[in-house]
Amino acid sequence: MSAKYMLTVEDVSKTYDGFKAITDLTFYLFEGELRTVIGPNGAGKSTFFDLITGRAKPDKGKIEFGFDTDLTELNEYEINRLGIGRKFQTPSVFTEHTVFNNLVLSLKGSRGVFASLFNRLSSTDRDRIDELLKLIRLDGKRGWKAGQLAHGEKQWLEIGMLLAQDPKILLVDEPAAGMTDEETHRTGELLISLAGKHSIVVIEHDMTFVKQIARDGQVTVLHQGRVLCEGKFDAVQANPKVREVYLGRGKTHK
Ligand code: ADP
Ligand code: MG
Repeated sequence: MSAKYMLTVEDVSKTYDGFKAITDLTFYLFEGELRTVIGPNGAGKSTFFDLITGRAKPDKGKIEFGFDTDLTELNEYEINRLGIGRKFQTPSVFTEHTVFNNLVLSLKGSRGVFASLFNRLSSTDRDRIDELLKLIRLDGKRGWKAGQLAHGEKQWLEIGMLLAQDPKILLVDEPAAGMTDEETHRTGELLISLAGKHSIVVIEHDMTFVKQIARDGQVTVLHQGRVLCEGKFDAVQANPKVREVYLGRGKTHK
């Protein structure tokens, strides 16, 4: 069997009041791949995630999950339930709940808030949460209220909350925004450790971070809603078209 695409996006377009946010976009994601998507502000990166997750519907084109699940016919909730988790740029954690309970509330299978917090957790769930706490390096802060965490830690908690749902595909939008260099580096390590088990798309601006996580993998450059080029980090960075629209401007940000 040939390698399987987790995600197939073909000839997808999306306009908003005549403005072409995404035009004829084609994109394939392999199972277990960690893909980085870069591009200047307004390139259509977040819209691309909106289209995959059902937040927006394409005007035309194909978006499929696995071999043949047509995502364009499903709503946001159904797509999430299939195993496609998205992390928005700003963290949305339950600030008044502990780190531990934030993870409990996110566990797969909707138990409802009351049942989640007041019923005894199964040992399997408890083990899973312990594992997640170590992974996101918040083991020592499991009893802290999420609102007390530093910005970077909140982002990790939210990644942990996504992982608690055991997603097949993780879509992560600018995770390093607002992070310190050290937090950014740790975030990179976390994402690298998740690849293989999950198929991941990371949108990012910070080139040091992109270089760290892209390693030998593919980087996709979006510009004005189209794929400008795709390739390994070094090739992309050296591409004159990319330099002109993106890198040439220096470290464009946020
Ligand atoms: P990026 O994430 O690459 O910075 P976006 O995908 O957020 O870019 O936006 C691409 C373009 O599409 C922008 O010009 C933006 O204003 C427009 N756009 C995105 N979503 C909407 C929307 N819901 N309604 C109208 N315009 C939108
Ligand atoms: Mg964006």
